[in-house]
Amino acid sequence: MKYSEKCPFCNETRFINNELANLPTEEAILFENEDLFVRVDISPVCLGHILIVTNKHYLNFFEIPKNMKKQVEKLQNKIKKIYKEVYNSDVLFFEHGSAQSGYAGASIDHAHLHCVPYKFDMVEDLNRTFGRFRECNIITSDEKFDNDFSYLYIQNTKENKGRVYTVEKLPSQFLRKLCFEKQGIEGYKWQEKCTNSDSVYNQEQTITDLTGKIFI
Ligand SMILES: [Zn+2]
Ligand SMILES: [Zn+2]
Repeated sequence: MKYSEKCPFCNETRFINNELANLPTEEAILFENEDLFVRVDISPVCLGHILIVTNKHYLNFFEIPKNMKKQVEKLQNKIKKIYKEVYNSDVLFFEHGSAQSGYAGASIDHAHLHCVPYKFDMVEDLNRTFGRFRECNIITSDEKFDNDFSYLYIQNTKENKGRVYTVEKLPSQFLRKLCFEKQGIEGYKWQEKCTNSDSVYNQEQTITDLTGKIFI
């Protein structure tokens, strides 16, 4: 299957890959307002894998305006509550912030924050791979990452600490790979996985689990 090179999060092309893979489109959108939307990942790394996405094509979440950050925080809090109810779990948020397209393992340079039930911890693996990190929260930080820096951001709602790793270049889909590895699941590329029965099940079940529950 050949997927589109167009941005899968910009409004006109947001369902382009779902359509090619014959996967849910509108149904995968769980929330939307003027600035942000929440959708189920095209190839969930586990049940409950969703994304908070900006409507406008920002490069990453450090770049978005303050009022939008407040809304992201509200969504994070809502998702925390819903994951507790539905999955009896904390939340792991992560972003592979791309300063330049194709860097930091981000094949997509449109701001999107991954949200997954916190059932596997990636901190030790990231420390081992990248060494130094800084504690930092994507919502409260005034930092900007310009074209010279890419980063990985992770935050879990158990400790509520955010960590940022500055990285130069990473293999594509690095965090996706790590998430599957932590669960002992082989393969990680969304292009190969999204039509597998496990992936389709996780996507449809996540839609069933979360539809109507996420709003701010
Ligand atoms: Zn875009
Ligand atoms: Zn991503």
